[in-house]
Amino acid sequence: MEIDNLLFDLGNVKNTNGLKVKGTCRPSLFDKALDDAYKVKAVSLDLKFSLGSDSILAQGFIEGKISLICARCNEIFEYEYKESFAELYDYSKKSADIENLIASLLSISIPLKPLCSDECKGICPTCGTSLNIANCKCEHSNKNAFAILKNLAV
Ligand SMILES: [Zn+2]
Ligand SMILES: [Zn+2]
Repeated sequence: MEIDNLLFDLGNVKNTNGLKVKGTCRPSLFDKALDDAYKVKAVSLDLKFSLGSDSILAQGFIEGKISLICARCNEIFEYEYKESFAELYDYSKKSADIENLIASLLSISIPLKPLCSDECKGICPTCGTSLNIANCKCEHSNKNAFAILKNLAV
């Protein structure tokens, strides 16, 4: 089931004595909440509303992929995330905005400095060669700095 609306009428939820929603959310639902550099692929959602004594509890689990740009090598890669949430809504509240909730979860889940892999070698600052794909003949300042430190220590 494709979910294209994540604004839930809590009156309906109450009338039906709770609600369960399971499916894949339309990725464009979250576009406006996230930076243009991030492309949400698909968000699979498992959501349950249950009625408590003085509030409605929404419990959910999301899982999916986002296209990110590696901070070291500038290549696009797919970042996998899994997040869960629980939110209480007072009975006086008319609707539950799960769309916003998921959008903020996604933005928290995205690393500040995304890396395609921990071993990503990045780009040579001198010639621009992607060091994951090829080696270049330039001297790399990182290595030099390390060598200097090593010499100092000895
Ligand atoms: Zn990378
Ligand atoms: Zn180079």
